[in-house]
Amino acid sequence: MNKNRYIILLCALTVSLLSVAQNSFHNTKHYIEYRVDSVLSKMTLEEKVGQMAQYTVDVIAKGGNLYTSDEPFEIDTKMLDLVVGKHKVGSILNTSNNRARTTEVWENNIKIIQQRAIQETGIPIVYGIDAIHGVTYTAGGTFFPQEVGMAATFNRDLVTRGAEITAYETRASNIPWNFSPTMDVGRDARWSRIWESFGEDTYVNAEMGTAVVRGYQGNNHNAVGANHTAACLKHYIGYGVPTSGKDRTPAIIAENDLREKFFEPFRAAIIDGNALSVMVNSGMINGVSTHADYRLLTQWLKEDLDFDGVVVTDWADVQNLLSRDHIVHNYRDAVRKAINAGIDMVMEPYNLEFMPTLIELVESGEVSQERVDDAVRRVLRMKFRLGLFDKPYWSRHDYPKFGSAEHEAAAKAAADESITLLKNDNNILPLKQGAKLLVAGPNANSMRTLNGGWSYSWQGEKTEEFAEQYNTIYEALSNKFGADNVVLEEGVSYNMAGQYFEENQPQIERAVAAADGVDYIVLALGENSYCETPGNLEELSLSDNQIALALALQQTGKPVILVLNEGRPRLIRKIEPNSKAIVHLYLPGNYGGDALADILAGDVNPSGKLPYTYPKFEQGLITYDHKPSQNLDTKMEGAYDYGAETSVQYSFGYGLSYTTFEYSNLHINKKEFAAGEDIMITVDIQNTGKVAGKESLLLFSSDLVASITPDVRRLRAFDKVELSPGQSKTVTFTINANDLAFVNAEGKWTLEEGEFMIQVGDQTVLIKCKATKIWDTPNK
Ligand code: BGC
Repeated sequence: MNKNRYIILLCALTVSLLSVAQNSFHNTKHYIEYRVDSVLSKMTLEEKVGQMAQYTVDVIAKGGNLYTSDEPFEIDTKMLDLVVGKHKVGSILNTSNNRARTTEVWENNIKIIQQRAIQETGIPIVYGIDAIHGVTYTAGGTFFPQEVGMAATFNRDLVTRGAEITAYETRASNIPWNFSPTMDVGRDARWSRIWESFGEDTYVNAEMGTAVVRGYQGNNHNAVGANHTAACLKHYIGYGVPTSGKDRTPAIIAENDLREKFFEPFRAAIIDGNALSVMVNSGMINGVSTHADYRLLTQWLKEDLDFDGVVVTDWADVQNLLSRDHIVHNYRDAVRKAINAGIDMVMEPYNLEFMPTLIELVESGEVSQERVDDAVRRVLRMKFRLGLFDKPYWSRHDYPKFGSAEHEAAAKAAADESITLLKNDNNILPLKQGAKLLVAGPNANSMRTLNGGWSYSWQGEKTEEFAEQYNTIYEALSNKFGADNVVLEEGVSYNMAGQYFEENQPQIERAVAAADGVDYIVLALGENSYCETPGNLEELSLSDNQIALALALQQTGKPVILVLNEGRPRLIRKIEPNSKAIVHLYLPGNYGGDALADILAGDVNPSGKLPYTYPKFEQGLITYDHKPSQNLDTKMEGAYDYGAETSVQYSFGYGLSYTTFEYSNLHINKKEFAAGEDIMITVDIQNTGKVAGKESLLLFSSDLVASITPDVRRLRAFDKVELSPGQSKTVTFTINANDLAFVNAEGKWTLEEGEFMIQVGDQTVLIKCKATKIWDTPNK
């Protein structure tokens, strides 16, 4: 090599090494803090306060008032001047007119907002949206099962992949911040948001929530790339158990449960997942409105966890401290309380008084400059982490995989694995090829019911308009079994123009008549779409009309395959005995009809398991991790012993397959353990049936005696395997001894000396803790 070429090569190498070093420096917290500091040091109070505010896009869209907008959706430059120009607002959320938009409309409008923001302050806005099972408000996006169904898969990889796709498609819509995942531990079957959660178990919520955060944010939370978004864990904390069962009403939660069962998923997703933001519980716990709770927001979250992300309110919840909760006399006090409690950004979402009010509070010293600086620093940090200062908007053409076949296949796979077979008398399923079917029930021919709320609109009522290309249950069964073999007669239908659960005059006789000449009746019952307060219920049973339809169809003597398409476990006690098979769909998304058809035909072997306890009686609402005195399956005879003396319809973790699995050789690597030690557990599992299948292995522990009554059992680990007929595998779980701890009455983590039982499938083994340890960090 001649000298010149050598020098050129050396220079090129140095430049590229420098650029690698520079790139990796750019992706570090140090660099971000440096940039945050340099922006913050030049900001006026007005600019800072603006960064702490978030408004709904209807406020800046053309239209007669703040609450709705004209079509087509366009930004009103006068309102933009007021909101982003004068008030220097740092964040916008939501869609206009409660309607999904194309990626093109999103790109055009967000670009206008960003250009105005940068012209005004040099700081881009951060746009936020609820993309909770796919990109809710973007036409043509890929819709997955809702979270409760994703939990039923017990498959972390599917969950992460789903989140990656959602993040990509949200970015394709020019939106970098997703108000998801929901980490509310859904422990009250009556609550209208059960389906938005990963079900009733703390560990499942922690694991799946963290898996979602990884999928949304990618590998480096300090440099969330162009295909990823910031996650927002919600709703911190204890939102899922309102005492009345109705949304946004007060909860009473024991102090130890709050730490052990409700805080843990948030802790895990922050410590293990590096989630960039948190949204606050709209309700109140033990009489304290969470939005005004310094202890929970500042001490537990920011101080104990060192959380350096953004704490955002839920919709209008500062105002709610005044008008709903009556804990202050005026709006000014509401703002003071919330910001001093630790709120960093206020989702107002209409009231422009927030900015002048907070400015006044800072000027009078009632809110400190330090508190404001801390909040703004958090907001700026997230904007830098998202790369918004370098690229505030982008082209939808950079996202060729939006709504692609590859994404569709991932959503279909998730739907396949979520569907849970609850009953299969005499192996009536799968159905014979060429079988003649009557498809009945209000959920038989609806894309709206398959998707549920947060689908193309808040309540999901616009779904039929956007999801025509996908298959309803009836359409998918017609494709699978042949259009000539499948008859549709709903018998009961929802009144789409009326209130959410209103039904039309039933036509039960017509459905009964249509059963003549068919081999099977596929009866799709459940709920129409809803979310939040409009989903509040007066009773948990399926509607009288639906029960009457089921009983009438069962009387025809034709075998009834009951399909449950519902966001929470509506009681089926009266119709369960004479249903030959029961298949629980939850809210499976746009591919749910196809997934069901594949399962009924035997092309897919069901593998979902219940992420919640399916209750039998209104007075029998209980979770699997209850106390022994609640008199349920305390004998630990088997993981799925719902036949024991019990008032539940189906236990947590229950779900059948078309094959059978046998567990054996449960083994632990030590007989005794001490706090902090790893424990390795192995178990063999064999597919003893005739078809290939997937099985989720759930590992439970039971603390046999404890100083406060222990839960009968707790899920500590899970894994999913696929086995062909005859095949067996050894599955290994490693848990830490501290995972077996509980929180005592003083709020401290406690691992007590004594015996524990470990259970996987029908296998159990005893193990002993050598010495008691008590500690009070937030970590297990
Ligand atoms: C919901 C949140 C949601 C927010 C923004 C609220 O009504 O409770 O879950 O993120 O609206 O759309």
